[in-house]
Amino acid sequence: MKIAKIAATWYQAPFARPIANSTFTYGASNKVVVRIHTDGGLVGTGWTNGTGLAMAIARDMGQRIVGRDALDRTAALAVLADDKVYGRGGLSAKSRSAIDIALWDLAGQVSGLSIHRMLGAHRDRVPAYVAGGYYAEGKDLSSLAEEALGALSLGARAFKMKIGLADPKRDLERVAAVRSAVGPDVALLVDANGGYDRATARLMADGLREFDVAWFEEPIDSRDVEGQAALRAAAGIPIASGESEHSLHEMGYAIRSRAMDVLNADAQCVDGITGWAVAAQMAAEEGIPVAPHGDQELHVHLAAAVPHGTFVEYYHGVNALREEMFVERLELNDDGTVSPPDRPGLGFVFDEERLARFRRDGLEAGAA
Ligand SMILES: [Mg+2]
Repeated sequence: MKIAKIAATWYQAPFARPIANSTFTYGASNKVVVRIHTDGGLVGTGWTNGTGLAMAIARDMGQRIVGRDALDRTAALAVLADDKVYGRGGLSAKSRSAIDIALWDLAGQVSGLSIHRMLGAHRDRVPAYVAGGYYAEGKDLSSLAEEALGALSLGARAFKMKIGLADPKRDLERVAAVRSAVGPDVALLVDANGGYDRATARLMADGLREFDVAWFEEPIDSRDVEGQAALRAAAGIPIASGESEHSLHEMGYAIRSRAMDVLNADAQCVDGITGWAVAAQMAAEEGIPVAPHGDQELHVHLAAAVPHGTFVEYYHGVNALREEMFVERLELNDDGTVSPPDRPGLGFVFDEERLARFRRDGLEAGAA
């Protein structure tokens, strides 16, 4: 089964109003979708967060693996790990990830197995947390609390909110407002997106303990591995990170340095599902649970496949692309968990008609 053609397409959906975390304001959601066509007519899909640059790299990488056996994922990844041409990490890691995910999807279609089953299927339900609580123009404490309650009304029993943009006192008021709205039994997570310096992160950890925070995500720039490891040792609340590590080398160093209590590895940027499984194994060896970052349709398969997969991040209503790109959505179970679909590969089919409205650009690799 040979790879005949690879199409990389960039989709973009603007937000109704820009949303912000501590470090960036986002006006739109961007995805690069990779579709790998085989000579037998199968199409595998993978994706990553990115724009035209990630699309162009994916096309360039695609040209290198056209004609290869579509089931030889490891061989394809090895060809695409060409540091001299693509550098290490960054956008090339994202594009390579999208290709790897598409190859796994193809292998699932060939075997008739879901990705979850291909990886070993540890359980069929994983708790989900609804990710939200962004900053936005005009968003006050009551609308933040309302948003958290809206997440719970979907069936979730956990909610994550942003901190780190407002001053620490104000952010603690925001956390207090959400805790008081959702009550004591809901898991409340906070995410600073690396926005604090070491000293402020320590002060925030002290302030957050009172609100029974389930984890404090990316308190400081996670490249400061020593600083984050020191904070983790002193914080008294669990520290989560991993979404910004785009190579297994960096991730392994952070894991072995005990820089986090929970690993948020993201298959969209750590060499796909193949790389994610390696990251998860490294975490297991250090007794660190994994709670993948982003994209529930992909990560529900992965978190449910390993014994130490504790949480799936779940987006609802944040942006049009996320809401409309799939024919079938991943719904929450009534106990606040999500379950991987027992369908071949990723098991989520794109709604091509609706997705087409968001198409910005496309490139193809293949025999001319
Ligand atoms: Mg985060």
